[in-house]
Amino acid sequence: MRSFSHYMTELFGGRVQKIAVDGGFTCPNRDGTVGRGGCTYCDNRAFVPSYCHRTDSVTEQLQAGKQFFASKGDVVGYLAYFQAFTGTHDDVSRLEARFEEALIVDGVLGLVIATRPDCLPGNVLDYIADLQRRAYVMVELGVETMHDRTLQLVNRCHDWATSADAIERLAACRIPVGVHLILGMPGETVADMELTVDAISALPVSMVKFHQMQVLKGTLLAQQVTARQVAVQRWTAQEYAAVCARLLRRLPSDMVVERVVAQSPSGMVLLPQWGLKPAEFQTILEKEIEQYN
Ligand code: SF4
Repeated sequence: MRSFSHYMTELFGGRVQKIAVDGGFTCPNRDGTVGRGGCTYCDNRAFVPSYCHRTDSVTEQLQAGKQFFASKGDVVGYLAYFQAFTGTHDDVSRLEARFEEALIVDGVLGLVIATRPDCLPGNVLDYIADLQRRAYVMVELGVETMHDRTLQLVNRCHDWATSADAIERLAACRIPVGVHLILGMPGETVADMELTVDAISALPVSMVKFHQMQVLKGTLLAQQVTARQVAVQRWTAQEYAAVCARLLRRLPSDMVVERVVAQSPSGMVLLPQWGLKPAEFQTILEKEIEQYN
């Protein structure tokens, strides 16, 4: 297992800062393309940083991000992170306009495009394959779990076979694939999560990021959990760290791990409420990893 910062240093020779950009996309699971209402746990506001405004141009958002991170130390460059909603859900010409605009901003070394596994039609894949010959591009797929019963329960509106196929198609185009997994999805046991991690480990994936299932206020999941219609894991931070340690050791040694925990604004989160800073969670995680070694 390698850290994301180590991977970036290998690629670019120093620290690289990701800057979130809202490309103004929507989501096929919200606009009726594949579903309506979205995933039961989704509230995109939970991960939009304060400098990122949907109404600003791509260039303006990147400049604001550069200013925001200016005090955090020297970097060799930036990655424009098209994180909000589904970063490939548009016509190729409009994707091209946004991505190419990002790449000409001073200091931008490449892109990270977050999307759904079912949103990579052939013409989009061809365009991204062409783009990555000119700049670093990683596609980050919201896979979340390999278990179709869970995907149905949370209304993802795609299945595991689609995720596995998207990973293979991206890798066949030599595009680095990042995979996003949620730990503690409704109804899942740690054994279920181990199966997901093993399945991802067997595929051509370059990077994984995990986060704990966050029940965000105002979501359908929050209603379901409150009404006891759906059960989620109620781990303490230490218990969650132990699960992470157990899963991390199953990953191939060359797999890049970007992060294992998410931190949404505490006022938005119903569960879990750990009240920990990232560094405090990291200390707990390192202790758990030591125990497993
Ligand atoms: S696919 Fe992503 S953006 Fe769309 S509803 Fe689900 S979590 Fe939200």
